Amino acid sequence: MKDTREDRSTMELADTYMFQTYGRFPIVLVRGDGCRVWDEDGKEYLDFVGGIAVCALGHSSPLVARVLEEQAKTLVHVSNLYYTRPQVDLARLLVENSFADRVFFCNSGAEANEAALKLARRYSYEKFGANRHVIVSMTNSFHGRTMATLSATGQAKIQIGYDPLLSGFRFVPFNDVEALEQAVDASVCAVMLEPIQGEGGVVCPDPDYLKRVRGLCDERGVLLIFDEVQVGMGRTGRLFAHEHYGITPDIMTLAKALGNGLPIGAMLATEALSPAFGPGSHATTFGGTPLLTAVSRAVVSSLLKDGWIAHAEKVGAYFKERLEGLGRKYDLVKEVRGLGLILGMELKRPGAPVVTACLKEGFLINCAHETVLRFVPPLIVQKDEVDHLVAALDRIFEGMTDERLRDSGIEGLRD
Ligand SMILES: *Cc1c(COP(=O)(O)O)cnc(C)c1O
Repeated sequence: MKDTREDRSTMELADTYMFQTYGRFPIVLVRGDGCRVWDEDGKEYLDFVGGIAVCALGHSSPLVARVLEEQAKTLVHVSNLYYTRPQVDLARLLVENSFADRVFFCNSGAEANEAALKLARRYSYEKFGANRHVIVSMTNSFHGRTMATLSATGQAKIQIGYDPLLSGFRFVPFNDVEALEQAVDASVCAVMLEPIQGEGGVVCPDPDYLKRVRGLCDERGVLLIFDEVQVGMGRTGRLFAHEHYGITPDIMTLAKALGNGLPIGAMLATEALSPAFGPGSHATTFGGTPLLTAVSRAVVSSLLKDGWIAHAEKVGAYFKERLEGLGRKYDLVKEVRGLGLILGMELKRPGAPVVTACLKEGFLINCAHETVLRFVPPLIVQKDEVDHLVAALDRIFEGMTDERLRDSGIEGLRD
């Protein structure tokens, strides 16, 4: 019989009525402001997850609230059968600040990547004919959870149980140009990668890697797709991560921070690819609604005009230095990686207990790839907030070190 008690907690209700697809932390968040969020018991947390690299301007941004209200009262949605101004204005802003000439709007990172994959295949089909449809992507990558993006994602744990995956995907290790040279044969239409692997544990490209990938793609007439869903929109200290490496892709995908929490994604590409996406070739009902694009345009303008990208670079460098300081102090830290405000700290042991300890201390962080603590806070995070987190990590690592020494019976040997 169905449980209909009225006194069940939010957590009980979630466990009753929702699919258990998420391993959630046992807190119920009810409110946010800037880099802080509060749970239903009134406990405050400093948020270094930022909705997973989404809330760049922080929680309850007054700008987002204002534009959202104004546009909601003006026009929310009409369908892409008609022109609407906010959509065009956002497209123009993105084009004027990137390598790209054209934009397609959608609703998520996975959908932006779907659009990229479809565009690459269609372009190749029209230019070279059939049988040139293979996409080479990277092991340890993450491109989303739809069937195509799952097929492009080089992680067995994400693909398991969903066979048959889409055919025409091939994987090579990230940072391995020779493997890529081998993989890119006459059947390949595009190479797809994240300039910095986010979910894979904040893995950065070797110097010159992306340049060499670009060179190889040019040499073989193959398209280069950058998935900047996580690292784009100012997070690395440039509007787009690839700007650090002196090259541009043919196609780029965006989502996460693009709407500061509203669901919007975008696929950008050069003019050469435009004919492959003519009328009827691709579409989505909600893509680029006036509501979402008006908010997104305000968010992108603020990132560009209010100095948040330079701020991300500066605070990110400081944050990284402080994490490196912990790395020198504690043997359990293996490596600190990242750029701007996407930082990873690889531990020599699973990171989950550290994440849980941080939660108790009032800090949200998360763990990518088992042993990597990942920090992707709002770009508006301040140095003193970084200091608070670093002090908490210091206490937590100290405790873990004590515990280890106790466990091994050599407590007396410290100091
Ligand atoms: C989050 C993410 C995606 C998927 O985005 P969704 O909005 O969850 O579909 C794709 N690529 C990268 C690099 C991501 O970080």
